Amino acid sequence: MQTAHTKEELRSLLAPHRGSRIVLVPTMGALHAGHASLLTQARELAGETGTVVASVFLNPVQFDNAGDLATYPKTPMQDLETCDKCGVDIVFMPSADTMYCSDRSITMEETHLSTVLCGASRPGHFAGVCLVVNKLFNLVQPTDAIFGKKDYQQLAILRRMVRDLDMPITLHGAEIVREDDGLALSSRNVRLTPEHRAAAPAIRRSLLAAGKAYGEGASIADICSQVRAELESIPGVRCDYVELVDAVTLHEVTAPHRLALLAVAAWFGDVRLIDNIELSRS
Ligand code: AMP
Repeated sequence: MQTAHTKEELRSLLAPHRGSRIVLVPTMGALHAGHASLLTQARELAGETGTVVASVFLNPVQFDNAGDLATYPKTPMQDLETCDKCGVDIVFMPSADTMYCSDRSITMEETHLSTVLCGASRPGHFAGVCLVVNKLFNLVQPTDAIFGKKDYQQLAILRRMVRDLDMPITLHGAEIVREDDGLALSSRNVRLTPEHRAAAPAIRRSLLAAGKAYGEGASIADICSQVRAELESIPGVRCDYVELVDAVTLHEVTAPHRLALLAVAAWFGDVRLIDNIELSRS
């Protein structure tokens, strides 16, 4: 495995691989088994002749909360080991100063899917995501890129970016990897108090119960308020949103739907957790 810290190093490491399938997995580091599953899928997709590139970059531009950025876990040495074990060929690990010019003045804003769910409560977040992913796409020029369905809205917005800007890249959505107790793996889980860590699997439990109720014909309003009530019965927990939306447009649905997404964001103390479940009802 090779590591690049600058754009120039990345370009020269990639030069011999141009023309082959190049699969990119963007991450912000503090890698866990969820990231490892994306990297392993990238290796499978690239095969023996293709190239797997992982980026490990804590992108300051997508943080709407300075405290969240400051306390975000950083484990660069372990991240390199994880990449190596998963068969990554090239890791791109730039600093923020390497990535961004100090007088940068171009923004990338998606204007429809970004207005709801996490976009409604995290102003500028998805513009920061689109900007960094666009830069990574330009630097790496991958044929494929893999993103997790845990950040379902991010994946939907990036699909829109690729579609609307005619980027010649195939995006792949990877299933959510969970702890044995159902909690979706997240780099932020280590910041939960022991009490909140013990209570957090309630998110998954309430989503599964909601999925069952949806299949049995329960009203969307009842389903969402049941999830909210269950989570907010935990001391110190406050829901940011519980919404049933169209899985493609991400806008709210009020009637049974082809493919819907029940999405949750909840504050467990000062840690914001997200999760979702895809639902269908004919
Ligand atoms: P992050 O480092 O949080 O930006 O995540 C990098 C990529 O890993 C994103 O595409 C995430 O959706 C994905 N990811 C994070 N956690 C999980 C998980 N538990 N299961 C699957 N993918 C994940």
